Amino acid sequence: MTFVITTPLYYVNDKPHLGSVYTTIICDSIARYKRLAGEDVIFITGVDEHGLKIQRTANEKGIEPKSHCDEISEIFNINWKDWNISFDKFIRTTSKYHESIVNEFYERVKASDDIYMGVQKGWYCVGCEEFKDNPENSSTYKCPIHQKNLEWKNEENLFFRLSKYQKEIEKIINEPSFIEPVERKNEIINFVSRGLKDFSISRTNVSWGIPVPGYDNHTFYVWFDALLGYVSAISSDTTNYSLEYSINGGWPADVHLIGKDILRFHAVYWPAMLISAGLKVPKKVFGHGFLTREGQKMGKSLGNILDPNLLLSKYGNDPVRWYLIKDITLGNDGDFQDRRFVDIINNDLANTIGNLLNRTSSMSRKWFDNKVPNNNNTSSANKLEYLAKTTIENYIKKFNSYKLDQVANEVLNLAINTNLYLNENQPWLLIKENDKLPVVKEIIYNVLESTRIIGLLLLPLLPELSSKINVQLGSTYQKDLPWEQQLKWGLLISNSNLPKPSPIINKLEYE
Ligand SMILES: [Zn+2]
Repeated sequence: MTFVITTPLYYVNDKPHLGSVYTTIICDSIARYKRLAGEDVIFITGVDEHGLKIQRTANEKGIEPKSHCDEISEIFNINWKDWNISFDKFIRTTSKYHESIVNEFYERVKASDDIYMGVQKGWYCVGCEEFKDNPENSSTYKCPIHQKNLEWKNEENLFFRLSKYQKEIEKIINEPSFIEPVERKNEIINFVSRGLKDFSISRTNVSWGIPVPGYDNHTFYVWFDALLGYVSAISSDTTNYSLEYSINGGWPADVHLIGKDILRFHAVYWPAMLISAGLKVPKKVFGHGFLTREGQKMGKSLGNILDPNLLLSKYGNDPVRWYLIKDITLGNDGDFQDRRFVDIINNDLANTIGNLLNRTSSMSRKWFDNKVPNNNNTSSANKLEYLAKTTIENYIKKFNSYKLDQVANEVLNLAINTNLYLNENQPWLLIKENDKLPVVKEIIYNVLESTRIIGLLLLPLLPELSSKINVQLGSTYQKDLPWEQQLKWGLLISNSNLPKPSPIINKLEYE
């Protein structure tokens, strides 16, 4: 089975901010999980490079739009590698294959009689690249998102007959799994119930775009161009790129993970465009929330923007991933708090998981000749084995429904319970009694085995920490064997060597 997951294609007006890092990390975890679960994953990310906003940004910098795009695209590309993002496709909407697929798609939509010439009048936000429906006194009305004055537009544009798809879109958005979370779904249902209006898909004053064939001064509206990046990405790296190739190569997407501000484009305009072109619609559109910092909206004017690269260089990949995955319920807004960050990392990763591994490995090495104990005494009622089994079942169920915070908590709870088991059984006292050696062997084996499973379960969430746990347990993970199979209890080999432990994560300090 092919599983296609996408981030949004990020606007190249600026380098990646914390919000884009968040979306991309969540997609990365899901993509890694699906690969481990045996699916054939295509993880798509990339950049949206056309449009008036980018044309103006480049002009302000006094350079050509293309050089600006080259520069920022490269920053994104390098950035995702720094964050260890396992993307399969990185699409640039200025690439040749993309342009060719946009043209092919446009021809199909035209053949469905869904394109006509009309006049577009209205107030436009360049930041959103979107007409705003309502403003009355618009010369002073600002875009609520960008806080910038709207611009009046009155020009001849090509239109797409969105209104024709009212019934079909209503049906799609009401399907139980198409839009998540449910609050977002209700917003979209409300919007669509007011009646869909045709929207313009070309611009006459924007030179930085893909030319519309047959209309000299028209370029495609940036969204009509960018949304198609998800389709053309599948054709990238091939010489015979085409719509057909992308369709056979895995389209439709299983999930578009996006910010809630661009949900309308993905859940309404995009499916209608796809139906018009005779293509399948994506299976799910997931609109996540916004991130604030210490309870405040981040912004240039407030001077409180948190640079994700600073976080990365200061704390490394795993702590940031853990915080974003575990502390924010996917779909809700999230808040980044410095103290909370330090507390969570120290409690969960250093004290609970790291310490569990280190102290157990040290005891085992000390008492059993630097080895995993020989455990032939598997008592029928093994509490940890039962806990691990339940954890794995819940973990899989929750991962499949994108409840990533709950997935992280499942793993953490197994670690908490394993620590409890160790403290209740007190092997450090039992080892002093001569006849208790078999029991001590069993306890230590069980704790090490539970830790092995914790490490495996962390693989899609915290790939680097997971790999450190694996190394400390004697590198038991086998890449070429199915991951789920390796979650079976009892695979840690008795009498195998345990390397000398070192902290898998450093404790953080308050600043
Ligand atoms: Zn705006």
